[in-house]
Amino acid sequence: MRKPIVAGNWKLHGTRSSAASLALDIAKGIDSLDHVEIGVCPPFVHLADVEKLINTTPLWLGAQNVSEHESGAFTGEISAPMLSEFGCKYVIIGHSERRTLFAENNKTICAKIQTVHACGMTPILCIGETLSDRESNKTKSVILDQLNAVLHSSPAKVLEALVVAYEPVWAIGTGKTASPEEAQEVHQLIRERMGQFSHNITEHLRVLYGGSVNASNAAELFAMPDIDGGLIGGASLKREDFIKICKAAEAVGLERTKN
Ligand code: PEP
Repeated sequence: MRKPIVAGNWKLHGTRSSAASLALDIAKGIDSLDHVEIGVCPPFVHLADVEKLINTTPLWLGAQNVSEHESGAFTGEISAPMLSEFGCKYVIIGHSERRTLFAENNKTICAKIQTVHACGMTPILCIGETLSDRESNKTKSVILDQLNAVLHSSPAKVLEALVVAYEPVWAIGTGKTASPEEAQEVHQLIRERMGQFSHNITEHLRVLYGGSVNASNAAELFAMPDIDGGLIGGASLKREDFIKICKAAEAVGLERTKN
């Protein structure tokens, strides 16, 4: 049984006080949800405050990025051991904004996955095609290329611990969402490809959907058989909407316990 995950990616938003009140309101709003794992990924500078506020609640804490290095002369970087010390459980890796705006490549992404896993946290690997990839029928090959880079460079124990987020680049922050069927097709592909490495992965891998998920479309996306929750950007900053999204995932998680 795969328990859905909902992760809020706060990106470069919020003040110290708005981050604290958002975290507290979300923690209160999701208190009774037992069939979904919910977390927030604030900017680095808010991790310590948010950690103190949520560490007695079911909410987990995550980071939006990490250095591939554990320590050293890397000005401006934050390492996996540092994130772990601040209570992070998950780390988003390879978000399309990192790939396109900060030139992250598969080699860096693979190194980040290893360091996050080695520090006992769970990497959330983001993959997804651009609009021109989709329009030229390259979605499948782009997804497989991004996945293969990780599959060929990671030991089985790392792959078994991974969470994957399918985030079509054209859907991130645009208000355009993949239809449930379009998303399901790619999620199934991801599960099948990862499953070629171990049957254990097929059954347990959680594949999140990300790309303009909101309070109105979450339920139909999460209802698809290979979608195990969502990575939420814009809507994770709107407390009521984010809680509604979490409730949509809770309903799916509850249903899965019955089957
Ligand atoms: C994201 O940034 O990972 C994301 C999915 O953003 P949005 O929900 O705003 O499209």
